[in-house]
Amino acid sequence: EAKSSGRGQVCYFNNAMRKRLKQQADIENDLQHGIKNNEFALYYQPIFSLNTGAIVGFEALVRWFHPKNGLVSPDTFIQIAEQTGQIIELDLHLLTLAAAQLKRWKDQGQPPIRVTVNVSSRHFASLEFVDTIRELYQRYELHSGSLCLEITESGLIANLALATKIIHGLASLGVKLYLDDFGTGYSALGYLHQLPIHVLKIDKSFIDQLTEKENPLVDAILKLAQSLNLTVVAEGIEQQTQWQLLKQKGCQFGQGFIVSQPLPADQAMAFVFSYSENIGKI
Ligand code: C2E
Ligand code: MG
Ligand code: MG
Ligand code: MG
Repeated sequence: EAKSSGRGQVCYFNNAMRKRLKQQADIENDLQHGIKNNEFALYYQPIFSLNTGAIVGFEALVRWFHPKNGLVSPDTFIQIAEQTGQIIELDLHLLTLAAAQLKRWKDQGQPPIRVTVNVSSRHFASLEFVDTIRELYQRYELHSGSLCLEITESGLIANLALATKIIHGLASLGVKLYLDDFGTGYSALGYLHQLPIHVLKIDKSFIDQLTEKENPLVDAILKLAQSLNLTVVAEGIEQQTQWQLLKQKGCQFGQGFIVSQPLPADQAMAFVFSYSENIGKI
């Protein structure tokens, strides 16, 4: 932020700002190397039915094993990658990793499972993105609908006409679109029923508040989803009371530490089996 506004301006940096700029510049450099050196991995967090407990899919979440800094969380580099534009290359790299993993599971004879990959809304500015996804489906022989996308609402409305074309193109490939962090951005509700979006993900911040007292916003989002015929996934469920409340209110799916944290691929698949054996017992 300071970087883009600071160019050519008189600007007084304090030490904290200087340190942050240095960190950002380092991340920018390291990202480039990191992609080449294969330092990024996807972890997989189960998405489950609130009614049956069955695991219905995974969200793929990036982890960076930085050679010097160790495990780096996406919150520290996704935003920078967005700003520098490196997110395009990083997302494509991660989409490829997810597709390769789906192929590996398929070759192992695992039952088909859906993986959602987070992508920047920057991809929704070029029709090429549809070709990219089509090629991934072909190259990795993916089951229809097994690789789906999560996107936040903010970027979509910048160029709604083009984004709409792209989303229709993706939908025709069987790719379902998940609207991530729903409720936290500038919701432009007008476009929701025009776009072939399939799933709303209620942001964790709303679920956090859903403990002893009710949260009218969660009710409102669930009603909205119902009337638009959208599926809902509640993010960040940590407590049994949240699960029960959401289930009572008609929310179909959930995700959160109550079932599992994001796991490396092999552990995630193993978890599905051990967990489903225990569903009847909890
Ligand atoms: P998100 O897509 O909303 O992902 C959900 C985040 O909530 C993940 O954090 C997940 O680990 C965390 N989470 C899930 N359940 C719980 C819970 O019960 N309790 C708590 N405390 N946290 C929970 P993570 O992995 O750190 O990812 C943060 C954000 O970074 C993601 O938010 C997403 O916006 C972005 N991101 C992650 N991976 C990718 C990626 O591959 N590409 C892009 N473009 N963005 C990504
Ligand atoms: Mg997400
Ligand atoms: Mg989310
Ligand atoms: Mg979130």
